[in-house]
Amino acid sequence: MFWLLVTGLWLAMLISPFILLYLFLPVGRECPRCSGETIAIRTWASRPLRAMGSRRWCMECGWEGIARNAVAGQPLPRLEVVPDDSEESGENSSWKPES
Ligand SMILES: [Zn+2]
Repeated sequence: MFWLLVTGLWLAMLISPFILLYLFLPVGRECPRCSGETIAIRTWASRPLRAMGSRRWCMECGWEGIARNAVAGQPLPRLEVVPDDSEESGENSSWKPES
């Protein structure tokens, strides 16, 4: 029973630096250097880890690094509805623009 405790403690000591490293990664889409928008670099090798985080690249300052995904609090991208000016989409359209 004692060896189980020692093995558990040893595993916790071995794993905790990686957990801390993961927790200290920048979160979300914002660039940690200039707070601009970053885009994800997706390769086939990073596919298994995509749920945890991704490599990101900043378009404004060129920062490149690993960022973990935001769990909540990040605003979703807004979809803009462009009103159709032509009268062809009459009453049968699936959506109606607010007038
Ligand atoms: Zn940047």
